[in-house]
Amino acid sequence: MLRWSKAFIPTLKEEPKEAEAISHKLMLRAGLIRKLTSGTYSYLPLGWRVLNKVINIVREEMNASGAQEVLLPAMHPKELWEKTGRYELLNKDILVTYTDRNGKETIFGPTHEEIITHLVAGEVRSYKQLPQTLYQIQTKFRDEPRPRFGVIRTAEFIMKDAYSFDIDWEGLEQSYKIMYDVYCRIFERCGLNFIAVEADPGMMGGNVSHEFMVPAESGEDEIVVCKSCGYAASLDKAEAGKTSGLQPPASNLKPIKEVETPGITTVEKVSKLLKVTPRELVKTIIIVADGKEVALLVRGDYELNLVKIARFLKAESLMLADEGVIEKVTGGPLGFSGPAGLKGIRILADYSVQGMVDFVTGANKKDRHLLNVNLERDFKVEGFGDFRYITPQDACPRCGKVIAIKTAIEVGHVFKLGTKYSGVLKANFLDAAGKEKPMIMGCYGIGINRIIAAFIEQNHDKEGIIWNKALCPFEILLLPTNFAEPSIKEAAEKIYKQLLGEGISAFLDDREVSPGIKFKDADLLGIPLRLVIGKKFLDKGLFELKIRRTGEVKDLRDPEALKKIILSA
Ligand code: ATP
Ligand code: MG
Repeated sequence: MLRWSKAFIPTLKEEPKEAEAISHKLMLRAGLIRKLTSGTYSYLPLGWRVLNKVINIVREEMNASGAQEVLLPAMHPKELWEKTGRYELLNKDILVTYTDRNGKETIFGPTHEEIITHLVAGEVRSYKQLPQTLYQIQTKFRDEPRPRFGVIRTAEFIMKDAYSFDIDWEGLEQSYKIMYDVYCRIFERCGLNFIAVEADPGMMGGNVSHEFMVPAESGEDEIVVCKSCGYAASLDKAEAGKTSGLQPPASNLKPIKEVETPGITTVEKVSKLLKVTPRELVKTIIIVADGKEVALLVRGDYELNLVKIARFLKAESLMLADEGVIEKVTGGPLGFSGPAGLKGIRILADYSVQGMVDFVTGANKKDRHLLNVNLERDFKVEGFGDFRYITPQDACPRCGKVIAIKTAIEVGHVFKLGTKYSGVLKANFLDAAGKEKPMIMGCYGIGINRIIAAFIEQNHDKEGIIWNKALCPFEILLLPTNFAEPSIKEAAEKIYKQLLGEGISAFLDDREVSPGIKFKDADLLGIPLRLVIGKKFLDKGLFELKIRRTGEVKDLRDPEALKKIILSA
């Protein structure tokens, strides 16, 4: 029995200045959350109600799929993370750690592959105990470089994480499909407009992964979608080009020529000065992959995609070389690198460089570029590959039609891990023939908090949030315009009791404030239905029902009809 006059719902009239994303602004204004520090938020009663609705949907669907809920420790011994190599990989990055009184280092779990694999390794012996899919709903900790957009990227967040263990790849295929379908149902039930895209598995490892993306303005991810054939991929993964098979012509090539380009390093400025288009330039980027330098070439108007390069090189760490390394490797300063004359370094080129002739590159000397550089004649590449980002001008890699690039919020991620963790942590079983084999794993995550923000990004107007029945903190708001008026108060109390008795989550605005404030707050909170008990009631005995999403208004004489309306909403 919660009434507004007693409720802890600190709504804000003013736009909070610190908030960039609309969902962040509205979650603060509607009193759902408050910030404690950068990346940590308190959920107030309304926010917590919504969060629980999401958790219930996730739990119901996970249980229905046959997955079993567990709760693993949030505190992990460093040793398990060392065994899989992820301590070394992530310690300087997202790991949150603490050292206890005995000097023992503990990791606050950012994800739980190590822990669940260790658990299952100790308990499962035989193929008869498999398959298993285990999940938990728990707080994760990540030292995010840039917490932002309210609860979209925080240092502490609730994740539903699931892990499947199978005896073979066929089994994983099935477990993966089940989770993929469950995720679709969960996001559908939440009322999100989402797209599942092919993605790069990143730090989880493994081969195949899909991300569940909610297109939204404040999304930090970019996705590529094709309206014609339905192709969808993350920008990191989207195939940008194939081999053209073109060989450079051996004759009629112009002689190489060194030209002065004082202080001019960007593609834009070089092409302007030399009166060529960016398409006639080749950019040379030196990267360092697992400690080794590699030169990457790409046509001037394209951008290199480091994720694709890391994948191609099977590199665990990859970064752009700093100025010192560039000088050492090329002999020239940053901004003047080129492939001609490079020695003692692997050279790889994006497909876009295939077939180019007489192009412009850096000269590996300060303030100098080269004209008429050519493949084979002036330098050799070890191989070509797809190393660049797709652009809106590219055709769909599947059907060749027009593509679009959109920003989106990642709400879920499913991976086929294979034996990456079961191998090192010895999660083995005996198969039917008595042979010992590593389990084949998958892992599956959902960002619970992000779902709320993603939903608000897609469901709001200039007045406030527009909840649906699935996520709303309450189904109906009773709004007596003047609670001091005895007949209004009596009618409101009566309906309130009746609805609660029928199991409907009703909320009563019993505050003695102006109707204007009540109407504004009602729109801001965005409860799907609002029943006004006011002038029409006094004059004609009518209740006014307003649907928040459509603005549609209906007069009701008999509030008994409400239950039917709410149930069918
Ligand atoms: P991102 O690329 O956005 O950093 P991630 O790919 O590292 O996320 P996963 O490890 O796949 O995240 O985690 C599973 C889910 O947890 C994500 O799909 C996302 O919804 C959620 N999540 C991840 N990081 C955060 C965070 N810092 N704050 C809130 N939710 C997060
Ligand atoms: Mg992810």
